[in-house]
Amino acid sequence: MRIEKIELPFSTSGTSRSLQVMRFGRADARPKIYVQASLHADEIPGMLTAVRLCNRLAALEAEGKILGEIVVVPVANPIGLAQSIQGSAFGRFALADGTNFNRHFAELSLPAAERLRGRLTHDAAENRELIREALRASVQALRATDEISALRRELLRLAIDADVVLDLHCDSEAVTHLYTSTAHALRAAPLAAALGAKALLTAEVSGDHPFDEAVSRTWLELARIFSDYPIAHSCFATTVELRGDVDVSYALADHDTAAILYFATLEGAISMALPPAEPDAVFATPLAGVLPLSAPVAGIVVFECAVGDWIRRGEIVARLVDPISLDETALTSDIDGVLFARTRTRYAIAGQRLAKIAGRDPIRSGKLLSP
Ligand SMILES: [Zn+2]
Repeated sequence: MRIEKIELPFSTSGTSRSLQVMRFGRADARPKIYVQASLHADEIPGMLTAVRLCNRLAALEAEGKILGEIVVVPVANPIGLAQSIQGSAFGRFALADGTNFNRHFAELSLPAAERLRGRLTHDAAENRELIREALRASVQALRATDEISALRRELLRLAIDADVVLDLHCDSEAVTHLYTSTAHALRAAPLAAALGAKALLTAEVSGDHPFDEAVSRTWLELARIFSDYPIAHSCFATTVELRGDVDVSYALADHDTAAILYFATLEGAISMALPPAEPDAVFATPLAGVLPLSAPVAGIVVFECAVGDWIRRGEIVARLVDPISLDETALTSDIDGVLFARTRTRYAIAGQRLAKIAGRDPIRSGKLLSP
């Protein structure tokens, strides 16, 4: 295990933060798998999984079983991790500028295209290396004067030339689910199955440029810009939501670590015996098919359905109880699908999102992720 420390520029005098990067296998060996946890800093299940993964990888490395390079960042957001408001963790948005930490990553296809013009060949493998080089140079050229933009740039720099990128998150109360590019649904399926996921949500553009799209969609864009040249989609990235934010235990982290090692073996980064039984398949559904259920009125939230339940159209998901009028409002689903996440909050402000149901058919457009 090689440990690297990346200092972030300090925002105020007398403070300093850094990213710690753990590297396994030979530097620059392929495939390169990049795993980061807790970009939304208070999402801890992935952080514990990253710790257990590092322990397993160190043992596999000692046995000479790592064939590629595996890079793990267990604390991808030390800025957000330090944000606490009177005892409550606040890790999704940056207090300094209000932005969601997992949005607004740099769009690199145009700057990379400028560097590539006139250099691509009719050899796909050669183009892959030229594109990786152009992407690395484009990240290096990004300006980052403050701590938050430097964090986004450094995370991109670590992942931009990886073959596989796993961004570990969690929801409020949830079953495991994954987000990935429509083009990568098939590649994500064995990982989703090994994790025991109940939803695999796909979109080409989900809005506001989250981390997984920043590293992966660039290849699709470049293939479009240079349509006369062979360009394979050489970075598979997925956002993995490891259940709800209090689902932190060694048993769950070890289960998820085993799934990631299984997937890394399928991808050729590790030499390990694969389990004899194939896990149950998980079918991809469009992110545009997710129904966000919002509270039509304020009230006490009483859920009638659990996460992981299959919901039928018209079924009551929750009731909102008005503690003043004593009225009750039923909240029903407009679609059939899996209730894959719901809020931990038990008092809803009018308009608040309470649950998400993954349906089969697209029903939305525009920005598809939660704010
Ligand atoms: Zn998250």
